[in-house]
Amino acid sequence: MRFFDRALVNGRSIRVRSTEKIDGDFALGGADHELEDRRRSVIDRPWVWLTQVHGNGCVDVDVVGLENARGAPADSSVTTRSDLALSIQTADCVPIALWSLDGVIAAVHAGWRGLEAGVIETATRSMRTHSSAPLHAFVGPSIGPECYEFGAEDLDRLEARFGPVIGGTTSDGRPALNVRAGVISELLRNDVVIDVDDDVCTACAGGFFSHRDRADIARHATVIWIEES
Ligand SMILES: [Zn+2]
Repeated sequence: MRFFDRALVNGRSIRVRSTEKIDGDFALGGADHELEDRRRSVIDRPWVWLTQVHGNGCVDVDVVGLENARGAPADSSVTTRSDLALSIQTADCVPIALWSLDGVIAAVHAGWRGLEAGVIETATRSMRTHSSAPLHAFVGPSIGPECYEFGAEDLDRLEARFGPVIGGTTSDGRPALNVRAGVISELLRNDVVIDVDDDVCTACAGGFFSHRDRADIARHATVIWIEES
C-alpha cells in the first residue's frame, strides 16, 4: 500500500492510501461484506465510492449527502467532511487525491476518456466552491507509456489538446499514450500543486492489477480522508 500524510491547518491532516495487489480487490460487484471489510481495514469509517463511467461527473458529498453520493455514476467526489473517506478504483487508469490546506478533499478517477471529458477541471472547480486555498495532488500508480500502445487517430487528437507530452512510445517502438503526463499537465493547467507523482507502472512493475496488460478485473482503491487530530 502506498502511504501519504500531510498536515493541514487547525491541527488536522489528510491521509492518502493507494492499495496494491497484495491488499486485495476493491472492484465493485463482488461480495459486499468482504469488500466492506477490506475497506474498513484501510480506514474504519464510511467510504464514498463511485460507479465510474469515464466521464467528468463530480459528486459533492456536502450537497447530496453520503447515501446519495455512494455508488453515484461519476468519476470524482468532493467533500469538506471529516467523518468519511473518499475513494475511487483503478487498474491502469490514474488515481488522483486532491486537497486544500484548509480541508477540502477530492478523489478523482482519470483515464484518457475522463481526462478528455474534463474530469480534473470539474473536480477542481467543485473544490473551489468550498475554498480559495491552493490545491495539492497525490497522483498514484498507473500504466506507463512503455506498456500503453494507443491508436494514432486518438493520439493525434489528445496531443492537439494536451500537448506532445501525452504521446510516447512503447517498449517495442509503437505509438503510445502517456496518460499520466496528460494528467499532470491538466492538473498544472488548473493550478494544482503536485506533491506526489508516484510513477510506478501498474502493467510492468509487478505487484499491481492491470486491466490493459493482463485483463485483470480486480481493482486497487485510492482513498483520502481528513484526520481531526
Ligand atoms: Zn510499464
